[in-house]
Amino acid sequence: MDLEQKAIERVRTASEMSLALYGSPLVVTDSGGKDSAICREIVRRAGIPYEVQHNLTTADAPQTIYYLRENFKRLEQSGIPCQINYPFYKGERATMWKLIPIKKFPPTRIQRYCCQILKEGGGMGRFIITGVRWDESVKRKSNRGIFENFTKDPGKKLILNNDNDERRLLFENCSLKGKRICNPIVDWKDRDVWEYIESERLPVNPLYEMGFFRVGCIGCPMAGKIRWKEFSLFPTYKHAYIRAFDRMLDCIHAGGSKTRWKTAEDVFLWWMEVEQVEGQLKLEDFEEWRSENGKQMELE
Ligand code: SF4
Repeated sequence: MDLEQKAIERVRTASEMSLALYGSPLVVTDSGGKDSAICREIVRRAGIPYEVQHNLTTADAPQTIYYLRENFKRLEQSGIPCQINYPFYKGERATMWKLIPIKKFPPTRIQRYCCQILKEGGGMGRFIITGVRWDESVKRKSNRGIFENFTKDPGKKLILNNDNDERRLLFENCSLKGKRICNPIVDWKDRDVWEYIESERLPVNPLYEMGFFRVGCIGCPMAGKIRWKEFSLFPTYKHAYIRAFDRMLDCIHAGGSKTRWKTAEDVFLWWMEVEQVEGQLKLEDFEEWRSENGKQMELE
């Protein structure tokens, strides 16, 4: 069976489960990236009912927002319900820029609180389709399967395979406790993704044409040095982070905590992993700094 057909079979199975367990169609979560574009096409070709949702991170590039708007308009015209999920934190509308002062430290590779709040909020109580792929990350490869039961407790996480009827029964028994996830292209390689996009002429986010390899928040700490390029193309986002770091320092000082950072620019350079800045914290210092200030810092 070819990759496309296998993915179609997977979403058809997920669709049956979604309708039986939740009484509602699958939800394709659309990040605006290439993998989401393929998932949208796969569910369309599967001929199943579905909806599309986007979790607004508030730090996406304008190109991503325009691209999503266009897609949503087109999908809604063909009768597919689309929804933007606005992020909330402790009952209030959240943005990346509000979260940084609240959390009192910048988002980092080891503290991705922003993802949890800005990107993982939607889809609760639904069966969702994501474009997660093993090829994309070693961590994802060890953690994610074709079918997942999303729960905050990793010990309770179920990684299920749709070939196993017995386990599907177990799946049904846990039906109302959280969202289920199907990753229909989890085993696609990068090459498969680009070949499919090209052969099927799928429109993708214009950021790829601008040389981006990944589509996510501008300044995402997971992007490493590529952030310099992002900030040179989108300087407004750099200024937004610096303003947020400034407010973060005010909050740290107001709470009576100590910090080696003197200015918001110091924080920015540390966050961008620039070395040899006076008073600079290294990433290794971060855990120590957190534990020293742990009582004043809000980690959840
Ligand atoms: S900045 Fe990166 S880690 Fe944070 S929400 Fe965006 S994608 Fe997730």
